[in-house]
Amino acid sequence: MRKFLAFLIVLAALAGGWSYAYYRTVRMDSAMNAVLVAPPYPVSARAQALHQRLLIADLHADSLLWDRGLATRATRGQVDVPRLLEANQALQVFTVVSQSPKNLNLERNTGDTDELTLAYVIRLKPPATWFSRTARALEQAAELRDAARKSGGHLVLVRSRGDLASFLERRRANPHLVAGILGIEGAHALDGKLGNLAALDGAGFRMIGLAHFFDNEFAGSAHGAKKHGLTPQGRALVAEMESRKILVDLAHASAKTIDDVTAMATRPVVVSHTGVRGTCDNQRNLSDDQLRRIAKTGGVIGIGYWDVATCGKDAAAIARAIRYTVEVAGVDHVALGSDFDGAVVEPFDVTGLALITQALM
Ligand SMILES: [Zn+2]
Repeated sequence: MRKFLAFLIVLAALAGGWSYAYYRTVRMDSAMNAVLVAPPYPVSARAQALHQRLLIADLHADSLLWDRGLATRATRGQVDVPRLLEANQALQVFTVVSQSPKNLNLERNTGDTDELTLAYVIRLKPPATWFSRTARALEQAAELRDAARKSGGHLVLVRSRGDLASFLERRRANPHLVAGILGIEGAHALDGKLGNLAALDGAGFRMIGLAHFFDNEFAGSAHGAKKHGLTPQGRALVAEMESRKILVDLAHASAKTIDDVTAMATRPVVVSHTGVRGTCDNQRNLSDDQLRRIAKTGGVIGIGYWDVATCGKDAAAIARAIRYTVEVAGVDHVALGSDFDGAVVEPFDVTGLALITQALM
């Protein structure tokens, strides 16, 4: 009896500890993905009318990282399917983060530590995801498929040009649809093995950022320790991605990596979320020369919404960066790259998208 009682007490302590830890991950989501101004976001009738006629895509949101069901409206975070529909956003690239070093900063990080391992354990995810970053990417891809299943047909996973064409055709008749495309933030998600690309391709990933906050086996990061360029393995990865028609994303890449990739690319490369030094001069953002080099590949540059990207706190700052990029790179090479749910405080959640339309007007 005594032993049983002790067992019960240990069990209760474990359950209590786990609930508290889980509650803390939810609190972190709320705090790290906050907005400066809460909805609703009124705009002029003219801006709203124009906004409703636009076909809008966004190249970067980290919403899959936070263990929220995206099919239903959440009271935290910046993106989910109901809010994307309300915002008249037609397409969202959902990007997977698979490792996050401790004390993240813009200047110098290494891949020696990882904040995500504990989060995967606390969320009771499959044990493979505790140890493998490829497994984490595949798990998040499964979560997007799950959200699409639970969305009542409103979220459609797009994996090919054909998928996109038929989605756009359907959306002309029914604007209450949003497409999701899978991307990856940092090629460390391959666990150092080029061979893992096939599994990620098979899971539907169509865009891969070569480096995130630290240098990896393939490429250097703008925030890494060495900030090196493409390694021989990195060159092989870029070639293999091109042959599989997976887009190369240069967000967070070191200056050397950007030079190396734009020199060897035979297909368009993108920068999914960034600012531009012309309006906001810091380590995270792109120079005029880099904007031109990326545009020259036929690629697009996604302008971010948060303060490190825009040096501002509102839609006017985003519009300023968009306009600057149009002037330097050309109007065909500028995109939206919100970084919603990317552990950044944003001026608004996705339902404030028409504020950008109004600011651009
Ligand atoms: Zn990022």
